[in-house]
Amino acid sequence: MATYLDLANLLFPDVTKTIDDLEKEYPLRNLPEGAQVTRFAPSPTGFLHTGSLFTAFIAYTYAKQSQGVYMFRLEDTDTKRTIAGSADELIDQLAEFGIIADEGYFPDGDKGAYGPYQQSVRADIYKVVIKHLIAEGKAYPDFCSAEDLQKIRDFQEANKILPGYYGPYARDRKLTVDEQIEKIKAGTPWVIRYKSMGDHDKKIKFKDAIRGELELADNDVDIVIMKSDGLPTYHFAHVVDDHFMRTTVVTRGEEWIPSTPIHIQLFRDLGWKGPKYAHLPVIMKLDHGNKRKLSKRKDPEAAVSYFLKAGYPPKGLLVYLMSIANSNFEEWTIANKSLDVSKFTFAFKKMSLDGALFDEGKLNYFCKEVLAATPKEELLKAVKEWAEKNSPSLLKKMNDDLEYFSKILNIEKDRPNPRKDYAKYGDIEPATWFFYDDEFEKHPELPFNEKYDKAFLKEFMSEVADKMLYGAGESEWWNSVKEVAAAKGFAIANKDYKANPDAYKGNISDAAEIIRIAITGQKDSPNLHEVIEILGKERVMKRLKNAI
Ligand code: GLU
Repeated sequence: MATYLDLANLLFPDVTKTIDDLEKEYPLRNLPEGAQVTRFAPSPTGFLHTGSLFTAFIAYTYAKQSQGVYMFRLEDTDTKRTIAGSADELIDQLAEFGIIADEGYFPDGDKGAYGPYQQSVRADIYKVVIKHLIAEGKAYPDFCSAEDLQKIRDFQEANKILPGYYGPYARDRKLTVDEQIEKIKAGTPWVIRYKSMGDHDKKIKFKDAIRGELELADNDVDIVIMKSDGLPTYHFAHVVDDHFMRTTVVTRGEEWIPSTPIHIQLFRDLGWKGPKYAHLPVIMKLDHGNKRKLSKRKDPEAAVSYFLKAGYPPKGLLVYLMSIANSNFEEWTIANKSLDVSKFTFAFKKMSLDGALFDEGKLNYFCKEVLAATPKEELLKAVKEWAEKNSPSLLKKMNDDLEYFSKILNIEKDRPNPRKDYAKYGDIEPATWFFYDDEFEKHPELPFNEKYDKAFLKEFMSEVADKMLYGAGESEWWNSVKEVAAAKGFAIANKDYKANPDAYKGNISDAAEIIRIAITGQKDSPNLHEVIEILGKERVMKRLKNAI
């Protein structure tokens, strides 16, 4: 009678390594006490989803704050779904956020001693473990064809039995080793299944770093661990990779919670201490009052590229993501006057359990704060890099006169409370159009207050143009404006105007509004004195004189 070992040798004649060899090849890491090893493990099946950026960011942060290791592992065993080029794109986009792996798959080659970090080239490692499981009678070949499996499903459905390949419905689990060997020798195609000893009626408990203790029905399904193409399924690859890469915490989407009993069972049967799990909440969106997952199809903000194209500063997006990760983070930013996420101590325990809600207002708020706090040179560089990729018109303005652009960009920046006009680089042009004559000349009708007749406005603006001071400090300039306004019948003190409105043309703020409209084409603008100084005397005079 043939043994499990005979079966294992027949299936994997070329596999000579043992699990012990692998243990030596990938030894326990020599890291300081408390250092965590995390990984981000995407499948190269498309664009970088906002939820994936969140997952990667948490894994990165948790490793970094503990002086640990953050890895990037490419989970490309589902070859049918792999999209060429998407792995490199994921890596490039993560790099824009500074999320660069200490170890992992990189387009120009792996980095790190625990690789390969690309599952499709780890087949030899998986086979060692599979051969071991078969030799121990814990895994077996399954010869079911697609039709055979369909028959099992149909039977289960007709009899209202829980679907799946388990217990009495795991057809080939019952074959003897001799029967298995015979089928293999006859060339019958096979996959390898795990022989589950679990009992669906029993519960299995495990601790989730975010959710605390979870209790789920144990797994009794004989899941496929190796497909007919020789590659493993997710469940098996996760267990083997995170064991030999010595991952300490698995941070992954909450959609994996129901599969965790399978993983725990595999770790246990292999005699391995599993990692900690932290199942991250999904990012949700409020849609007509209902919460739903961010959808690839419906929501542009589901793709990280949307934010990068629009010009959201990556740092701002990370600050925002940290605010949804830990509710005490916002308080921390205020108390510490810091927006540096790397200085904040992230904790799984402080994560909200319900789906994190995507809030554009909040994102804009944090991005404005970040841009306002970015030093001038750094900001200018970032805007330029963005414009090079995304905005020919903005780039032209920068190339034509960088000094002029830089002054515009930095209006009211050197103040304790700087202006916060922009949430993203894409907001700059719509907010600064009036600085550019060709755009200013196309302005719609100027919104002057109708209580002033044109002749008066023309006269007033002409006098302002001639008499106000250029190149002076703000208070001198303002005094010169007040002088002209007073001479033209505006009240300089608001209380005088209030006491006797009919005696005046208006108050000084009405006068300033007229000047502002003539110069900027709109009622709101940044500090008028700064605007005038940037535009320069010639342009300002021309605008004031030609306004009517
Ligand atoms: N490749 C899996 C996914 O993209 C990874 C899950 C995990 O991190 O283990 O969902």
